[in-house]
Amino acid sequence: MKKDSNMEENTIRTQYLVIGNSAAGIGAVQGIRSVDPSGQLLLLSDEPHHTYSRPLISYWLQGRVEPENMVYRDTDFYDDNGVTALLGPDYRVESIDGENKTAKLANGQTVVFDKAVIASGSAPFVPPIGGLETAQDDFTFTKLADAQGVRDVVDRVNEEGRQPKVVILGAGLIGLKAAEALNDQAESIIIIDLAPRVLPSVLTEGTAGYVQEILADRGLDFRLGRSIASIGDHQVTLSDDETLPYDVLILAAGTRPAVGFAKEAGIECGRGILTDEHQETNMAGIYAAGDCTDSMDISSGQVRNMAVLPNAFMQGQTAGVSMAGEEAVYDKGFPVNSLGLLGFYMLSAGSYTGDELVVNDGECVKHFFLGDDRLNGFIIFGDCPRAGIYTDLIRNKTDLAGIDTDRLFREPGIMAFGTQARAAKVARPH
Ligand SMILES: Cc1cc2nc3c(=O)[nH]c(=O)nc-3n(C[C@H](O)[C@H](O)[C@H](O)COP(=O)(O)OP(=O)(O)OC[C@H]3O[C@@H](n4cnc5c(N)ncnc54)[C@H](O)[C@@H]3O)c2cc1C
Repeated sequence: MKKDSNMEENTIRTQYLVIGNSAAGIGAVQGIRSVDPSGQLLLLSDEPHHTYSRPLISYWLQGRVEPENMVYRDTDFYDDNGVTALLGPDYRVESIDGENKTAKLANGQTVVFDKAVIASGSAPFVPPIGGLETAQDDFTFTKLADAQGVRDVVDRVNEEGRQPKVVILGAGLIGLKAAEALNDQAESIIIIDLAPRVLPSVLTEGTAGYVQEILADRGLDFRLGRSIASIGDHQVTLSDDETLPYDVLILAAGTRPAVGFAKEAGIECGRGILTDEHQETNMAGIYAAGDCTDSMDISSGQVRNMAVLPNAFMQGQTAGVSMAGEEAVYDKGFPVNSLGLLGFYMLSAGSYTGDELVVNDGECVKHFFLGDDRLNGFIIFGDCPRAGIYTDLIRNKTDLAGIDTDRLFREPGIMAFGTQARAAKVARPH
């Protein structure tokens, strides 16, 4: 990578530009390099760190992983893949020009590119709350820097000889992972959500109560169906006038696809950036992947934002291969969540439409959602070792007619398939 001598001082020229340094951005790098081992590749991120696994920030806060074990790829990944990685707030992309193929950075530099992929992920959504501007010791919880901020407050409170009172806004995945991280380090944890149930985007109405009871048994306290009306000096007042003091306030009310500069550039967006099955946007040569995009959920047939890490990586990889000129298609996306919380495990996938069938096999409780001889989705409580078979049924839209579903839903295994289907599965190369 070098500055182009024909252009003004502040300009960098590259063949491939990757905006984002997480699952989707890294997938794009790998996709590009699988086709083109040597084209100039510039990766930009407004976070200063080597690529890290975002879901591990709560484990770091909990003390379960060391920073060196959070890396998403080895520390020599950029060198090995011929990537110029410019990391930190200076390299934040402020705007992009799809016609002229340029991006403007926060430090005033301009990047001129042939092809770019936007892998900017999602940004925390913080609802408007009175007193938020002057609040202290409040954090969102999507970045390593957020977890480090929480850690500093916990340490400061510990130095006063006590444990912190923690208030969390949001009973979704991120709020509950933060709660898990702090459960053994806090005097109390109170979780507030406007929704009347926990994990509203992962669980059904019927299953959320069960999970809430388990989490309450393990020390978490909930205020559901309520919101924070205002924030004062280390205290929040709820919509029902209850006042809760806090040492640490975590704002985890949700995330939104980070589409700001893309939208301003005229790139078509729904909730997230819209792409075709090669991950290309409506602007030729500009691709998008990961949490910042909307894509087809094959389990529901709807285009939606599916903010999960495996999808982000695969979309990135598809974008990368396509940018480098080969044919790649991403058409198998659906939401999958594997979630451990305070020693309690659950796995969910697909959409919860159709008839619900509940199977208790003594080890796990499984909720299957079925329609038109297809498995649309499932929620499994407990550790179910071969549940990947169920995810495959959704991914491959397997016709369940002719399969011994009584047996399959009790014990996932190949014996439930008919002789022919078994033979085909055994013969299929992996
Ligand atoms: C606490 C927590 C727990 C999670 N647990 C799970 C889990 O168990 N399973 C699961 O599947 N998913 C989980 N997720 C979600 C998962 O982390 C995301 O789906 C995944 O990281 C998405 O990858 P991405 O590359 O699309 O975006 P992100 O990981 O959000 O990365 C976006 C990148 O773009 C950069 N960027 C953004 N804007 C700009 C800009 N303007 N200029 C330059 N750079 C920019 C950012 O710095 C970052 O490098 C969790 C997330 C959190 C926060």
